[in-house]
This record gives sequence, structure tokens and C-alpha cells, in this order.
Amino acid sequence: MNKVDFLLIGQGLAGSLLAYELIRRGYRVMVVDNGGANASTVAAGLINPVTGMRLVKSTDVDLLLPAAKRLYQELAAQFGQTFYLEKPMLRLLRDETAVKQAAKRLHTAGYQAYLAAVRPSLATHQNAPSGWLEQKQTGYLLTKPLLACLRDYFITQNSYDQTAFDYQELDVTLKPQWRSLTARQVVFCEGHHARHNPWFSWLPFQAVKGEILSLQLATGSLPQQILNDGHWLLPLSETQFRTGATFDHQRLDCQPTAAAKAELMDSLARFSPSSTSATVTAQLAGIRPCTWDKQPFTGFHPQHPQLALFNGFGAKGSLQIPLYSQRFADCLAGLVPPPSDISRHYAAHFPG
Ligand SMILES: Cc1cc2nc3c(=O)[nH]c(=O)nc-3n(C[C@H](O)[C@H](O)[C@H](O)COP(=O)(O)OP(=O)(O)OC[C@H]3O[C@@H](n4cnc5c(N)ncnc54)[C@H](O)[C@@H]3O)c2cc1C
Repeated sequence: MNKVDFLLIGQGLAGSLLAYELIRRGYRVMVVDNGGANASTVAAGLINPVTGMRLVKSTDVDLLLPAAKRLYQELAAQFGQTFYLEKPMLRLLRDETAVKQAAKRLHTAGYQAYLAAVRPSLATHQNAPSGWLEQKQTGYLLTKPLLACLRDYFITQNSYDQTAFDYQELDVTLKPQWRSLTARQVVFCEGHHARHNPWFSWLPFQAVKGEILSLQLATGSLPQQILNDGHWLLPLSETQFRTGATFDHQRLDCQPTAAAKAELMDSLARFSPSSTSATVTAQLAGIRPCTWDKQPFTGFHPQHPQLALFNGFGAKGSLQIPLYSQRFADCLAGLVPPPSDISRHYAAHFPG
């Protein structure tokens, strides 16, 4: 029997960064992933500290963002390539109410680090008579190459097994056994698949499908900034960009749909009409691991504390997972309680 400290199921962004933190702390880790498509590689990886019509700061962003930038920089230095690109975002101000809300926020304490100024209509995008709000400290994570580098790193550490994990193969004793491996702890990082996990499916997950288009302009040039009007346009080069993302609570599969494509193209026609001549080069769909209470799910099974969960990062994985993986690695080391502890849901499902 081989022994590890932690057996992690899932090599999306959550499993990858948690495994990285655990290995960094000197633990023996095995990461199991089936190698299929996942939410992390479909995602645009956007980080946007101030969101919604009311322009509200994301919870704990003042802590989450510096931790995320620090970790992505460390990973860039380790693997010799850039993973996180900062790019200002322009949010369309649809009317006078939006202009007033932007002006209010520009003078609200704690927002100056994230908001620059109201800008007039862009030369390339004249359809914004009320202008744009320029946001700072926005950007995007190149999740796909990051996960590829981390998978290669886990392989060099003898910490990776590409195979489908079958729940029935897990022997849940005090020291869980799976195939030829015993582990102190099993940590499930399965994204939306956790809805089918026999030990954690009681948690109020809320899976949400999303679709994204990749497009190529024949001529012309795109703005330097990310544009946002609920849906966003993310320029990747002078002529290539992505636009997304849809939210569908009903059809929870990974099939691209004509309806999502039409929704995204209609939206683009409103906030960036000059981009609609572009050709669609790809359409991807994935499922976000959202939760009903909009908080991540981390912690331990109340009856099998050797089974842990690291999940529920919804639509904000790029921002949240770095700090949460550091805190949960400290938790697994017995140093601190779980961040955003699932024990808040024990009473509803395990009375007494
Ligand atoms: C369309 C779309 C757009 C998004 N845009 C953004 C964005 O702009 N910014 C942002 O921060 N977030 C965005 N997200 C959300 C982001 O993708 C998630 O927050 C994050 O990637 C979740 O990571 P995860 O590791 O928990 O899940 P996943 O990435 O889904 O990883 C779970 C992994 O577990 C593996 N797995 C599950 N079960 C098993 C099993 N039994 N055996 C073996 N392997 C298994 C899966 O194959 C997968 O690799 C978006 C998501 C979607 C779908």
C-alpha cells in the first residue's frame, strides 16, 4: 500500500491550487482527475472586483485580490510564463441613473483602488452616449496553460493519476483506502460533479451552465480594455476576442446551444456593434459550481471527518481560490478552522 497525506479528487483550479499549497507545505499528495473538460478551462478567468448595476465590491476582495495576484505571480516565476494579465475594464453607463451611481461610487471610501473615472464614448464604440466607467485592478487568468503546467508539475512529484474516480472504490475507514493507496484525508474538489457525491450531495449546490464565444475580426481593431455591459468582451489581440457568458439554471450539460450564441451576439450588437462582423471560431459550454448561499463550501463531513470538501467557487474561482486554497491547506494542517465552513449547513441535514 502506498501512503499519502491527502488524496484530492479533481484537477480544476480548486484541486490544482490546493494541491500546490499542500505540496509546498511538505505533504504527500495524490491528485486524481479524469482529464475531461471542466469549468476552469472553459472559463474566461475574469477578475472584476466591482460588479452589478449597483457597482458593489465583491466580498473580501481587499484580501482575495492581493493573495490571487501574489500567487499567480509566484506561479509565473516558477513556470516561466505569465498566467494573470491585468487589463482595465470599461463598464457601459446605460443612462443617467448609471452615471449617478458611478459618480457616487467614485467618491465612496474603499472604492478608489478599483475605479478610475467616467470616460466619454470610445472612438471605436460610439454607442455609449452616457460614457463608460473605467475600472482598475481587473484582468483575466489564463487558466488552461496554468492547469497544464500544474499537471506536469504534479506528474514530476509522482502526485498525479489520470483516471476516473469511482465513489464505490473508496473504503471509508479511519484511513481511507482507494485502489493501492491509503490517505489521511480525501479532499473532493470535483466542481459541479459534487452534486452526485454520496457524502456531500446534501449541500445546497446550484449548478449554472455558461457559454462563451471566441471570435476573430477580419479587419479593424478592438479596444485595449475589457468591455462590460452585463455580458463582456475580452480582447485577446488586435483582432481576436471572447464574449460571454450566459447563465442557464435548467439545461445542465456541456453542449453549446444556438440560443446562447444568439443571446451573446445580440448583446454584442448593443454594446459593441463594430465587433459583430467577426467570425465565431469556437463556442464552449461549462458548468459553474455555484451555491445557494453564494458562499464557497469548504470543510469536513460531520460523520466522516476524514472526507473533506473544497468547492463552491461559483463564477469567481480566479479571485477566490488562491486565498481559500492557502487557508484550507492551513486548515488541513490543523492550524485554523475551514474558511466558509460547511458546518453552517449541518443542522439542516444532520439533526442532533
Ligand atoms: C462559461 C463559464 C465562464 C466562467 N467565467 C469565469 C470568469 O470569468 N472568472 C472566474 O473567476 N470564474 C469563471 N467561471 C467559474 C470558474 O470556472 C469556476 O469558479 C472554477 O473554475 C471552479 O473550479 P473547480 O476546480 O471547482 O471546478 P472544475 O474546473 O469543474 O474542476 C473539477 C474537476 O474535477 C474533475 N472530476 C470531477 N469528478 C471526477 C471524478 N469522479 N473522477 C475524476 N475527476 C473528476 C473534473 O474532471 C474537473 O477536472 C466560469 C465558468 C463557466 C462555466
